[in-house]
Amino acid sequence: MNAQELVQQEFLERLKIYSDGLRVHKERKGERPTDRKSAEELECGFLERYLTHVDAARDKTLAFPVVVPIPYPPCITPVAELKNVTMRELRLETRHKGTRLLLKAITQSHRIGGIVAATQDTRGDAAAVVMYHQQPENVRRAVDILGKGSVILVKEPYFEVVGPGQYRIRVDHLSDVVFLEKNDPRVPKAWRSKALGSEKTADAYRLKGNEAVEQNKFWEAITAYSAGLSLKPTADETGALCRNRALAYLRTRQYDAALLDTCYPDFLPQPSYNGMIRAAEALYHLGRFDESAKVMQKLCSEFPNHEHAQGQLERVQARLSEQQTGVYDFRQLQIDATKLKPPTLDRATYIGPVEVRDAPGKGRGLFVTKAVKAGDLLLCEKAFGYVHAPEDKYARAPTIMVHMETDRAIMNEQVDLLQALIRKLYHNPSLIPTFTSLCHGGYEGQTTFEVDGAPAVDTFLVERIMTLNVFGYWRTTSLADHIDFVSPNTKREQDHSCGVWTTASYINHSCMNNVERAFIGDMMIVRATKDLDADTELGFWYKDPFRSNFAQRQADHEEWGFVCYCSLCEDARATETSTIDKRKELWLEAEELCGRIPPTPAYEIEQIAKALDDTYTQPASKVPRVELRDLLLVIARLYVISKEPSKVLEYVGKMLTSLGFIIHGADTSSTRFAVEQWGMVAEPFVEAFLHARKAFEVLGRPEDAEKAKEYAKLVFKMVIGEDDSFEAVHGDHDTRFGWVC
Ligand SMILES: [Zn+2]
Repeated sequence: MNAQELVQQEFLERLKIYSDGLRVHKERKGERPTDRKSAEELECGFLERYLTHVDAARDKTLAFPVVVPIPYPPCITPVAELKNVTMRELRLETRHKGTRLLLKAITQSHRIGGIVAATQDTRGDAAAVVMYHQQPENVRRAVDILGKGSVILVKEPYFEVVGPGQYRIRVDHLSDVVFLEKNDPRVPKAWRSKALGSEKTADAYRLKGNEAVEQNKFWEAITAYSAGLSLKPTADETGALCRNRALAYLRTRQYDAALLDTCYPDFLPQPSYNGMIRAAEALYHLGRFDESAKVMQKLCSEFPNHEHAQGQLERVQARLSEQQTGVYDFRQLQIDATKLKPPTLDRATYIGPVEVRDAPGKGRGLFVTKAVKAGDLLLCEKAFGYVHAPEDKYARAPTIMVHMETDRAIMNEQVDLLQALIRKLYHNPSLIPTFTSLCHGGYEGQTTFEVDGAPAVDTFLVERIMTLNVFGYWRTTSLADHIDFVSPNTKREQDHSCGVWTTASYINHSCMNNVERAFIGDMMIVRATKDLDADTELGFWYKDPFRSNFAQRQADHEEWGFVCYCSLCEDARATETSTIDKRKELWLEAEELCGRIPPTPAYEIEQIAKALDDTYTQPASKVPRVELRDLLLVIARLYVISKEPSKVLEYVGKMLTSLGFIIHGADTSSTRFAVEQWGMVAEPFVEAFLHARKAFEVLGRPEDAEKAKEYAKLVFKMVIGEDDSFEAVHGDHDTRFGWVC
């Protein structure tokens, strides 16, 4: 979505102000402002602006755009090697390489796009600081991240202008800010408070940490345990501090750090129940189920009377089995996805007979390593990052990030996803390679480095990878959603749940899909929609060819940085513009006829279908006639109502063959009904096969009816991911479509 498209929406006003502001930003680049506000002025103004913001945010209708500067990489110089800089040396719209800026918050912090507070430097000059992508308020309060009086070091500060006389330091990369403890030698004496805690003992810090844990204040607990560990405690104290900190790391989803604190894999010097069970949990969340299972087995043999451990062992064994066999209880998956909000499922990823290989002309792609059948499960992948759209999209204030240079924007759930991904990578560096191996469209920023013992995760790289690899989808995450899905009233533009699946991401686009994706909660299920030979490259569409024309598809493909050479696109390129226009005209005419009440007589739509069919020159098995699909289904429905089963069969047959299927027996001959070759599979074929089933039944051909039902179920499995819910969704098919004969 570009900023222009948003103009029609409620963001118009605010975006206009911001884009005007952008021009000011650019003009003042390099300037050293002389009209900076004093600390006192800033403090007052800050409070006032904050209150205005809170009022506006409360009505949840206004967006507060985050304007993103031209991408710049995170600082990769160790903080000790950076030179101190002060505010008055800073130049606008510039990142100050090789420097660090020491700041003290002089107000409480608030959330306006990022975490914002008024700050002062060591010379008493003041400016606001804004830190993006920090933990959300429901995880950690802004005032706990940056409270009044907190001291931070901003590495290679970026100084920006936000309005006349208003300047601030922005921190886009998590690793570019260091939060200093009050007793840190880098904190100037004048900024230190009395309660330094330097006289405390390691054990006192342990107790303080424990107290924080009891109050679910895990970040504070980590700070306390770390302070204790910095006091050179005894071996016993170290063990206790680390084990306890591991728990706090687990609760804040920092699994790498948790694992490290448990002394995995040897658990030396003294293996303990707490250490081992925490290591097993960290490994579980890192998806290392085999290692987790080994730790749990060892734990259960050493501490045989722990029921909890036994339960955990069974849980990890269930994941291992899913990972190895691809056998899931899909009915339970549906139940969990309905019950959990957000529907992030406790399941393992199964990677079937597929592997990433070079795909000439397309970079890399995903290929089958052996022959598979239509309907076979190829992937059941848990999301690497996932954000679920709220049922009520007005339940939240909209968020938007606008790129200064390109005028492009990401919104709402994608903003949340970006932030979740950045934090996940920053706190779990062992997962970084999996993510950064994905396509980044030639982004020439920092690849990831470690600095000062923490990863330097490049926000702009993560965003680039996310935008190129994100999947958005409408909410087919539960049975209720499936029923919605097949309902003609479903508004499918509400597809804002989104996520990144790092294996499925390697599947390249093809309008002519040979696999189909489906979602249950945050699991993506990919099944073959055709019989595939070994070494076939997998492809599914990124832009639905049934709901877009050639020009719309090309525009999107271009945005994603590729050209589609499938036979559908190649044929469109080779077709005269006048023919394309004619096709569009006929399609619009048909759409109008199909929407009429009372229904248009079938023969009128048939004539248009015939005319549309005549605009194609290539055989349908080579170039599927996508414009015909819905039209032919409507005609079949009309024959259902007029109780003409042989005509129903005829039009189901036409629908299948026009989409590239090779079939037999969809007529009144004695040939058995069969699909010899699968065409372009999509959800409406479930209905089509079910009409065929009923028509065969009425015509007294029970075996063919059974076969048609099998196909309906198979298509359902391909597009919904499983067929356990088939009856629940389609059990009322006959009555729904008026099959009364
Ligand atoms: Zn194509």
